[in-house]
Amino acid sequence: MIKFIFVTGGVLSSVGKGVVTSSIGKMLQARGLKVTAIKIDPYVNVDAGTMNPYVHGEVYVTDDGGETDLDLGWYERFLDLNLTKENNITTGQVYQSVIERERRGGFLGKCVQIVPHVTEEIKNRIRSIAKRANVDVVLTECGGTVGDIEGLPFLEAIRQMRLEEGVENTLYVHVALVPILDATGEMKTKPLQHSVNELRRIGIQPDIIVARCRKMIDMDALRKIALFGTIPEKAVFCSYDVSTIYQVPFILDEQGMGDFICNRIKLQHREPDYKKWKEFINAILNPEYEVNIALVGKYTKLADSYVSMREALLHGGAMLQAKVLISHIDAESLEEDPSNVDKLQSFDGIFVPYGFGSRGVEGKIAAIKFARENDIPFLGVCLGFQLAVVEFARNVCGLRGANSTEVDPNTPHPVVDLMPEQRALEQKGATMRLGARKILVRPGTLAHELYKADEIYERHRHRFEVNPRYVEELKRGGLVFSAVGEDGRLEILELPSHRFFMASQFHGEFKSRPMRPSPLYYGFVRAALSRKLGTVAVAG
Ligand code: GLN
Repeated sequence: MIKFIFVTGGVLSSVGKGVVTSSIGKMLQARGLKVTAIKIDPYVNVDAGTMNPYVHGEVYVTDDGGETDLDLGWYERFLDLNLTKENNITTGQVYQSVIERERRGGFLGKCVQIVPHVTEEIKNRIRSIAKRANVDVVLTECGGTVGDIEGLPFLEAIRQMRLEEGVENTLYVHVALVPILDATGEMKTKPLQHSVNELRRIGIQPDIIVARCRKMIDMDALRKIALFGTIPEKAVFCSYDVSTIYQVPFILDEQGMGDFICNRIKLQHREPDYKKWKEFINAILNPEYEVNIALVGKYTKLADSYVSMREALLHGGAMLQAKVLISHIDAESLEEDPSNVDKLQSFDGIFVPYGFGSRGVEGKIAAIKFARENDIPFLGVCLGFQLAVVEFARNVCGLRGANSTEVDPNTPHPVVDLMPEQRALEQKGATMRLGARKILVRPGTLAHELYKADEIYERHRHRFEVNPRYVEELKRGGLVFSAVGEDGRLEILELPSHRFFMASQFHGEFKSRPMRPSPLYYGFVRAALSRKLGTVAVAG
């Protein structure tokens, strides 16, 4: 019998449901159970691909090319899973299927309604993932906040699942904020109580309540939550602030959450084993070194825009006993005042992330030039890769005005250009070059040394590519393309004359895991650390 755990959120969004969901998964994995995780996003977009990262945070890319919510990234990192695009369910997808079926005549004679047709579609999707994943437990996180209009069909569907799957096979976890008043230091549980009431109004009585609070909640608050939530005190847990979110599974498990869940839904389990996970956390909490990385981007005011990149740098650092401190530098600030570029000197490494459109591009190019000329470790990803080519073309190969046609459609030297198959496309949704592709790594290159493999699979999300017409000229200038996709696309560049100058068209960060960092990120942090410590190479 597959068990279903549903996670809802109250009071406000961004309360850490994703991390709580991932942490529950980790607690169960530590007990030898197999899990998978689903994210429900009640917005009408079919997927996250068409949303601005500045509003919604990064778009996470799965192996199969799904453009998904960033919570899938937390599931993959915490649980070391490779999920599929089906693990992210949106209102857009659900309605699209129901409407297509209606047009095909699949409901002939019937009036198609939210209950039962839309809710059936939602339940079918959850169950089909459960079946395919062949797991003991399916975690389903319902995005947004209880009480949102658009979340109602999903909550109704998960309410029905208790009736159909049975009380012993379903569990409702409600995560809600408990604010602390600055003036009195008091923990206020009223907003949480209201959100539980809202959930009950829909017909869901939570089995577990997780209070999200800056500090461990006191007994007074815990009792109130239990009393008003109509659950035993031992079913109330607190997710309080910790140094690293990778600690959240522990702090919840220490409070008894793992055992409570297993008993409640009758899961056969062994004693939890966190050995590997603990090693990782110890490395993060007790670093010997610090490295300072400048992240030169344009979505710098929303930390979630670069979350997988930040985590990949952190994973790399953890393997080297190094704490990675990331400073977000607004690329446009380097354009407004070129003297700001010199300030990059104080960093151990310069990182240029993904991006779309022309804003901030010249600032990023200036940062890349500075890294190249001053032998500062550099890593570029996707747009960062493309702009490294633009910079090299302009300043080393002497191709004046070289650019990407995304930025300047009339450039005399389109060294980065739209991929041919993109030209005829009319739809924007899910039409980039997406997902994992086979890439061949050239032996004898730094890329090969880092990956220790001839063949790799990495994930993509782009429309533009290095223009094959310019490759010979770039090579003559000294640029090495050390990996090429099976389809001939250029994937990694490096500059052997430089201490560490690398960039990739793919996004290595999406496959980076605790204790198994993305090789390019690892190499980059290692080079930054070596430079800082003045050593030729750091072991690790
Ligand atoms: N805008 C560029 C492209 O579409 C880069 C995309 C990215 O950085 N993810 O190719």
